[in-house]
Amino acid sequence: MGSDIISERRRHTRNKVYRALYDSPVPLSKQALSLKLEMSLPTIYQNVTELMEMGLIEYTGAQNSSGGRPAMQMRAVAKARFAIGVFISVDSLYFALTDLMCGVLAHKEVRHRLPLFESSYNRFFSSQLESFIDENEIDRGKLLGVGICLSGIIQPEELLVFYAPPLNLRNVSIKPLVESIPYPVNVENDANSGGFAEWFNDSSGESIAFLSLAWGVGGATFVNGDKFSGANQRSGEFGHMCIEYNGRPCACGKRGCLEAYCSSSRISSELGITLDEFFAQLSQGNRELQDIWDDYIKHLAIGVHNIRMALDCRIVIGGEISSYLQPHMPRLCRMVAACDPFAASCDYVSLAKYSAVGAPLGTALHFVKAFLDNNI
Ligand SMILES: [Zn+2]
Repeated sequence: MGSDIISERRRHTRNKVYRALYDSPVPLSKQALSLKLEMSLPTIYQNVTELMEMGLIEYTGAQNSSGGRPAMQMRAVAKARFAIGVFISVDSLYFALTDLMCGVLAHKEVRHRLPLFESSYNRFFSSQLESFIDENEIDRGKLLGVGICLSGIIQPEELLVFYAPPLNLRNVSIKPLVESIPYPVNVENDANSGGFAEWFNDSSGESIAFLSLAWGVGGATFVNGDKFSGANQRSGEFGHMCIEYNGRPCACGKRGCLEAYCSSSRISSELGITLDEFFAQLSQGNRELQDIWDDYIKHLAIGVHNIRMALDCRIVIGGEISSYLQPHMPRLCRMVAACDPFAASCDYVSLAKYSAVGAPLGTALHFVKAFLDNNI
């Protein structure tokens, strides 16, 4: 017991040394670390030696100091670990690769026509995953894990897709798929993972509400440094806020939900066109599409305003629609500001940094966060 406590404390100290190098925008010397962390030089030397042996930090060269021997500078090794995220849609797998610096190193979409989560699909998934690892020359010993995300309500403990209208699934087990993957696996909703990518890679650390506009409309809130899940893991279900009493029918079975107005299907598959075609024809002045878009953006403004009033935080709009929204942001912001009794502008609304790759990146980043948090 006693030795466990000592070893835990030592791990904690080693993690502090590692995090100081990881978080620093510039390389640091042992002397600088000693001053920064208020630790003795022998303690720093011991931990640096261990971290070097683990391949987690490296020397970058010498710093010219005023007289005496130049001090060696060190930094964290970005490619010491990797994580992969996969977004599952009805007809494709979208892979994203990240390392400890949390950017997108590679991404790839693979299309297929297999029935989801049946054995042929699970074999296809595994072989595509291994190919992606090989193509990017990833050392499997450095792979922290594989995140999987999809548009639906997931019960992670049971590995069950409870309800996923875009995938036409209800009560489907993904246990056989997860068990066929020889790496740690994390499964989650795509709006949660897309929001996590935005929040985790935002250095401000501010609380955000992430509103995902895709076939499904969903979201997630990240408050005071963590995701707020709610009592039933349904926090951030912005798509099912009622914005028109007894309004348009929604995929959830109710009426008047934000999703019924702002789903991507409303401006693509319901009209028999793609999103590219919708926005191209809209910009060419198609009157009929303009009327639909006016209604879409009006309800989007109400939804954004309601989120702001409930949470009073920054709102980041993501999902596939977000990649088309830039030219429409001034209008959306004017409409949101017109609803707002407290502010004359809506500088609290922005578009996601990552669009399509955000969801798979986010689910991969959970592994990076766990690695950084859990005392290396
Ligand atoms: Zn609904």
